[in-house]
Amino acid sequence: MNFVFPAPPVASVPVLHSEQRFAVHRIYCVGRNYADHAREMGADVNRTQPTFFLKPADAVVTDGRDVPYPSATADLHHEVEMVVALGSGGRDIPLETALEHVFGYGVGLDLTRRDLQAAAKAKSLPWDVAKGFDASAPISALRAIGNGVHPQHATLSLLVNGEPRQNSDISEMIFNVAEIIHALSQLFELTAGDLIFTGTPAGVAALARGDVFEATLGGVASLQGRIV
Ligand code: MN
Repeated sequence: MNFVFPAPPVASVPVLHSEQRFAVHRIYCVGRNYADHAREMGADVNRTQPTFFLKPADAVVTDGRDVPYPSATADLHHEVEMVVALGSGGRDIPLETALEHVFGYGVGLDLTRRDLQAAAKAKSLPWDVAKGFDASAPISALRAIGNGVHPQHATLSLLVNGEPRQNSDISEMIFNVAEIIHALSQLFELTAGDLIFTGTPAGVAALARGDVFEATLGGVASLQGRIV
């Protein structure tokens, strides 16, 4: 291929116990997937259809890396989330086979410019600048699923400067992983390399420069970093 300028590098995430990395195609995110968080945001709990939005693939920040405090906000919020990594995809994926497309799992932060999101919601405008900014998707190394066992229960927690901020269990999700893949594949053609941030429980709050965060998906993955 002969490009007018060098092609951009491929965003990627390490895989635990592997020399190989997971190349990121797209980052999908689910909104309002825990009832306690939907309520804390003043939103209705909707069990009919998941809310989706996207972040650019190169928004990933890998484990241990510093996260620059973003421009144009005075209210950067953390949202700890289980991340699903797809090893294959398709359109109109049936519920029954949806989990067969999962490569593995990790934990990430859906960083949010909460002040810009609130302004967008007030004017019924899109969330892109509130959600899809540079370095808005810190993510752990991924754990590949072994022998087809998918986590049904796992603690999802976030410490900031050693203090607990968010603590829940993935069994509290309104839409489970199979339901998310099924619904997303009716809107987009999914493919290997797609990441899905599956929503956050209650306890979202502000991050400041110098804060150290530690996110954990119990027994699966962990992520550390610092806001600079
Ligand atoms: Mn989120």
